[in-house]
Amino acid sequence: MSSDADSPSLAHAVALIAAARHAVVLAGAGMSKESGIPTFRGDGGLWTVRGEPPLNQYETFSADPRRWWERRLEQERSADEFATAIESAEPNAGHRALADLEAMGAIAHVISQNIDDLHRRAGQRSLTEIHGNRTWMRCIVCESRWPRAEFPVDPEALPPRCAQPGCGGIVKGDTVMFGEPIPPSALRRCAEESARADLFLSVGTSAVVYPAAQYPIAAAQRGVPLIEINPEPTPLTPLAAVVLRGPSGEVLPALAAAVRALQDRGSAARTSPGEDD
Ligand SMILES: [Zn+2]
Repeated sequence: MSSDADSPSLAHAVALIAAARHAVVLAGAGMSKESGIPTFRGDGGLWTVRGEPPLNQYETFSADPRRWWERRLEQERSADEFATAIESAEPNAGHRALADLEAMGAIAHVISQNIDDLHRRAGQRSLTEIHGNRTWMRCIVCESRWPRAEFPVDPEALPPRCAQPGCGGIVKGDTVMFGEPIPPSALRRCAEESARADLFLSVGTSAVVYPAAQYPIAAAQRGVPLIEINPEPTPLTPLAAVVLRGPSGEVLPALAAAVRALQDRGSAARTSPGEDD
């Protein structure tokens, strides 16, 4: 692959980011895959090996949450190969570059379809995990969330109940199940951030899972420029103002370095000798 580091496309992307006041990112499974997390579909994918989860997963949970929790605790004890792959995964250079771009003020929000907690661990602060986070728990009534490690579960009193005063709703894993509505608070946040977006970046996503894919599409349709970062073309490619082909772990660090260099030149110009005081 030729380096995009000095390409006109990279320069165009940097210019769009510099001009934006509220850049929003949609991040997908490609970023997780680069950290060694198995995909769901495809060769060796979780669902290819284990079979697709039933489409009525949430219905089954709702009918017998105690049974779901018994299995969950059993899985936590036995830690199979997929769980181990996820537990040992670390944020990659792409996750860190995305967090750096936020720290620089270059991007405002990340909507991630990934459930692996790697964005948060990389330092991303303004983040909506639209499909949940496998290391968190969530109350199905009030949508309160807790890291699993901070939510003790008594195996003798399943399913666990929400600790919020006056709630007492059933608590489940935060990952959104098949058949489960995406939590309204997450959808609201995605809609608000997308409505404010004056630039969209689509990173490591095939952009075929809805509703996540609708945010960059709707933004592009109202004239917001879209930057696509992905090794392969996607349904978003025809809508993109700039396409940066490659793994996010290579493209995002190059992009973050170029944005930082531009910011440094700007601040050097503002503080050049003779202009102070
Ligand atoms: Zn609750």
